[in-house]
Amino acid sequence: MDLNPTDLGNGIFCLDTGYVRPGLAACYLMHQGGQWAIIETGTSNTVPLVLDYLAAEGIAADRINYVMPTHIHLDHAGGAGLLMEKLPSAQLVVHPRGADHMANPERLISASREVYGIDRFDTLYGEIRPIAPERILVAEDDMTLNLGGRVLRIRHGPGHAEHHYCIWDSATEGWFTGDNFGISYREMIGDNDRHLMPSTTPAQFNPEKLLATLDMLMSYRPARIYLTHFGVLTQPEEQVEKLRTAIGEYCDIALNHECDRDRIAVIREALTAREFGLLQLVRPTLSAIEAQTILGLDLSLNAQGLDAWLEKRKRYNYAGHR
Ligand SMILES: [Zn+2]
Repeated sequence: MDLNPTDLGNGIFCLDTGYVRPGLAACYLMHQGGQWAIIETGTSNTVPLVLDYLAAEGIAADRINYVMPTHIHLDHAGGAGLLMEKLPSAQLVVHPRGADHMANPERLISASREVYGIDRFDTLYGEIRPIAPERILVAEDDMTLNLGGRVLRIRHGPGHAEHHYCIWDSATEGWFTGDNFGISYREMIGDNDRHLMPSTTPAQFNPEKLLATLDMLMSYRPARIYLTHFGVLTQPEEQVEKLRTAIGEYCDIALNHECDRDRIAVIREALTAREFGLLQLVRPTLSAIEAQTILGLDLSLNAQGLDAWLEKRKRYNYAGHR
């Protein structure tokens, strides 16, 4: 697998972060008028890849103006602290609900260790460094950034997580959606269509907010979506329907198994049946083992996230998901 960036045109490059396996998580480098932004940092293990790229292209570290994790889940922002240490002029652009966690990452680390387990956490993420508060630019909703004359508009996008924003690049009429527009790896692309599934990672998945965020994104009539997991998605108008349907079905699955014993495992099984079936429509030659390799991690996270949603819903006596 070639970890060099893919040139997407219009000053945008897609770099594989090296997270878990090739093609799982991307970060994007964007430049205009001599200035650079890095959208998503990947983990601390990604930082050397970014620095190697900058060095190979002769881009001085002080030309990076913005480091922009769409949200603070560690496959998107885990490398931010280490990366910021290497980029003296950069500001970290982070959602108001994520800013404190970037300055004081202890709680973020302990919450992620709960999801992944300590050993796996250390392998996946390495060291998480704090970022000096004065280098953090809090990303308010509808704020714009000027990258060498290119306008980047920030829109808050809750649903996958409360600390999530999306970036509208008017130059390409494209959205950097983080995890809000779901997951569609290259292995999920068939001859005629691609499979796309939502990401309902714990612990803040909220179906109503996610649907509202999708409506907000689509109201800009995007031509393309830059997925973190993974790459460019075209024809968002057609693709978004898959997400809307899936979000409803995910909630139905969760509610149907709310009172089951060992409900995370049962929900995971139901999600697996759904997603494998849909994936095999797009990629008929794929075996169950291959499908498991492609989707296994996300199905586990999605099941855990639905469990957390059921818990929260019960606690707040939350009335229905539609
Ligand atoms: Zn996430």
